[in-house]
Amino acid sequence: MGGTDQVRGTRRSTAAANGGGVTRNLNSDTVINLDHGDPTMYESFWRKMGDKCTVVIKGHECLSYFSNIKNPCWFLEPKLEESIKSLHGAVGNAVTDGYSIVVGTGSSQLLQAVLYAVSCDQPNQISVVSPAPYYSSYPEIIDLVRSGLYKWGGDAHGFDKDEPFIELVTSPNNPNGVIRGSVVNRDGGILIHDLAYYWPQYTPITSSLDFDIMLFTASKCTGHAGSRIGWALVKDKEVAKKMIKFMEVNTIGVSKESQIRVAKILQVVADGCKRFGSPDGDNFFEFSKSLMSKRWEILRETVKKTRMFTLPKYPLQHCNYTGDVTQAHPAFAWIKCKEGIEDCEKVFRGQNILTRSGRRFGSDPGYVRVSMVSKEEDFDMFIERLSAIQSFNNGDGNGITNGNVNGNLD
Ligand code: PMP
Repeated sequence: MGGTDQVRGTRRSTAAANGGGVTRNLNSDTVINLDHGDPTMYESFWRKMGDKCTVVIKGHECLSYFSNIKNPCWFLEPKLEESIKSLHGAVGNAVTDGYSIVVGTGSSQLLQAVLYAVSCDQPNQISVVSPAPYYSSYPEIIDLVRSGLYKWGGDAHGFDKDEPFIELVTSPNNPNGVIRGSVVNRDGGILIHDLAYYWPQYTPITSSLDFDIMLFTASKCTGHAGSRIGWALVKDKEVAKKMIKFMEVNTIGVSKESQIRVAKILQVVADGCKRFGSPDGDNFFEFSKSLMSKRWEILRETVKKTRMFTLPKYPLQHCNYTGDVTQAHPAFAWIKCKEGIEDCEKVFRGQNILTRSGRRFGSDPGYVRVSMVSKEEDFDMFIERLSAIQSFNNGDGNGITNGNVNGNLD
């Protein structure tokens, strides 16, 4: 989520939000923050689940550092391990048999643990690359402490050094929702698959993946970002051991309270999964997929009317989980401004909509990333303001106006 760049508090004056420039705001001076991917849209589902997901932890419980001393990952709560296996089994998105599970404080911490594990025995500092547009937090995570073991190597498309490398493969990709494979097409690379969005609400599940190192997170799967639980599925036991070592030194394990809560949530999702199409409405993926596809339908209609922007198209694919032929409904919209508009983020800022510039993803500022997983009221307000942006040829190279205010629109 790009920690430091988050805007805290979403209400400020129009003038301030616009750098003191003139803005004719549509309905209020509320700034809509769609810069980060805070997955609050699933709240109504969890509210409906009521006490099914309540966990009670008494004062005398969870005192020890240890969760299971028989497991090399001694801080992994057995119930969380069980529910992770059960969820992947029910969805069919990843193989767990033969894999070590390592739990982390979000997949952000696990990424650091993996980087340590795969680079600590390398003779030289190793480059970490990812193809642009890449997740904007990668460069920050990789270079923050200026590790001697690894360094950010930039866009994988341009990596042509004849030396070992680590490639981060994000699939579906943040920011553009595309299913990806490795792009540095040669030996000597270590691949880390970041599969935060490989869940049925975002993309068709086309196979049960079995890569060497796979990262998942509760944040994007169920929306429980606040619990800060991620997990890694790791084929090589030695790599898993080094990751566990990193976790020991870094935080001496992971909060038991968080693990127990997420174990409960994942088990409720896994149990509900088996009842696809049930009238009880307790299938989380059925709920979330339907919500995502409605949002995307509304967004596509609105974008088409503005004639200002374009959206990526996704192929129709058979989803092994739902049994439908469907397209992706990514957690972010990767919006491109029409030709001639160089700074797409500025266009949205003019409407008090905070987005993240394409520049931050190693890409073109003619693009922005917009969160599609916000609260309903934010999404509705976003659509309302977006529909008022219309293209017209005003000759200043900006080509944007506010439909409700300016009459000379096409
Ligand atoms: N990987 C990707 C691709 C992400 O988008 C995110 C969250 N934005 C993360 C990892 C980190 O997720 P968390 O630390 O919340 O588990």
